[in-house]
Amino acid sequence: MHVDALQYYLDSCYVLQHREGRIYCAYLTDTDCTMAATKKQYYEYIVIGCGGIGSGALYWLSKRSNSALGLEQFSLGHERGGSQDVSRIIRLTHHDDRYTKLVPDTFKAWEQIERESGLQVVWMTGGLRLARKGQTEARLEAYAVEMDRNNIRYDRLSNKQLMARYPQFTVGPDIVALYQGQSGLVDAVMGNAVHIQLARGNGATILENCPATRLTRANNGNVIVHTTKGVFECRKVVVTSGGWLNSVLGTIGVHVPVTVTQEQVTYYATPHMKEFTEKTFPIWIFHCPQYDFYALPIHGNTGTKIGIDVGGKAVTADTRTFEPDPDQERICTELLQEICPKFLGPILQTKTCLYTMPPDRDFLVDTCAYKGWSDVIVCCGAGHAYKFASLLGKILSELAVDGRTQYDISQFNITRDAIQDPTFKPTFSLWSSVEAKL
Ligand SMILES: Cc1cc2nc3c(=O)[nH]c(=O)nc-3n(C[C@H](O)[C@H](O)[C@H](O)COP(=O)(O)OP(=O)(O)OC[C@H]3O[C@@H](n4cnc5c(N)ncnc54)[C@H](O)[C@@H]3O)c2cc1C
Repeated sequence: MHVDALQYYLDSCYVLQHREGRIYCAYLTDTDCTMAATKKQYYEYIVIGCGGIGSGALYWLSKRSNSALGLEQFSLGHERGGSQDVSRIIRLTHHDDRYTKLVPDTFKAWEQIERESGLQVVWMTGGLRLARKGQTEARLEAYAVEMDRNNIRYDRLSNKQLMARYPQFTVGPDIVALYQGQSGLVDAVMGNAVHIQLARGNGATILENCPATRLTRANNGNVIVHTTKGVFECRKVVVTSGGWLNSVLGTIGVHVPVTVTQEQVTYYATPHMKEFTEKTFPIWIFHCPQYDFYALPIHGNTGTKIGIDVGGKAVTADTRTFEPDPDQERICTELLQEICPKFLGPILQTKTCLYTMPPDRDFLVDTCAYKGWSDVIVCCGAGHAYKFASLLGKILSELAVDGRTQYDISQFNITRDAIQDPTFKPTFSLWSSVEAKL
């Protein structure tokens, strides 16, 4: 047997003996021996983690190369990560230029896969931001300033104007709103599946239930990706492993100080479905002093949907539970009783999901060159990236193929203070549901 082909079994603690120039392996089953005998396979590009961003990266890589491999530790479409739900908000309005300037291209990236697949992935609904006068109005103003700076059209609405446009709301004169039309939702389940199917159609290989365990350097300079199903060699690796980011990166001495939280969204079986479809109701965000609520119209099932941004507790990707937090459900229900009672109905479902956030809650899109691994490219979506998933995939593919990207990602680098300075204070606060008050 070839020594390289057996390297993976060293990770698995099988007993290997090297005698008189030959390798003998003990305690391997027949299947193990067959796999061990399989020669290490070469792909030009390997993507580790086929969630939202990884499936995007694989698709865009598959357009540039016929030698791309995607590794997913679970089954495709599993619900343990950050991208598996039927709707995620997409919006032109962002709080700063680094994101605002990328949005037009993110819409174009989604349009591209819609054109290629003939399937709809993005649904435009219009979008609202609401705040209470004298409380969180300044947060609205920050968005207004950003939209003015970028010549984005929007409307300022009083409570009466808001209810005239959307009678589903029942808000007093203390509520003010901004409306921006180029907002809506991306169907994440659909987006992931479309990326994967198009990538396969372009010749990409995908291995499910195949965790990458570590990265090493080959003698010829390539990267070796060790997995539970064999050893693969490649020119460039893209690590898009969400809440598990550090388990593979740690094997090359890279650590990203991410906080993983268990978030949740609640679907209500409103009897007023017609008033809450993508055609009749917008996505909306309500700024409260302690946290922001976000809500979406019915899509992909029969329920309206609401969640609290960074509403969950810190967990790890492996220790998280799938148990909904009843306090968050209650707080969402109380807000809706006050400002949008028809949105409510019996709880259809509360789904949990992971945010993975660097301390400044900004994206990470960079190579690991600072640790001598310029051929390992990493991306972390900071708990707000689904809307950008296809564009981030394109950016990652450009970094892998061309060594640079046409998009400005200069401030999403891995050497910034938020990632390298252990004393950097997180810009988000973790919310303890027990203390939460409206
Ligand atoms: C409740 C909730 C609401 C959200 N709402 C919005 C929103 O409205 N708009 C928005 O833009 N964003 C939103 N987000 C954020 C957005 O969904 C995430 O930022 C994004 O989906 C993360 O994608 P990802 O590919 O980085 O992670 P994931 O989708 O978690 O993918 C990582 C994948 O890597 C795999 N993996 C990990 N380690 C390995 C390994 N060693 N080998 C092989 N595979 C591995 C995992 O199994 C997983 O499939 C929301 C997130 C949550 C949780």
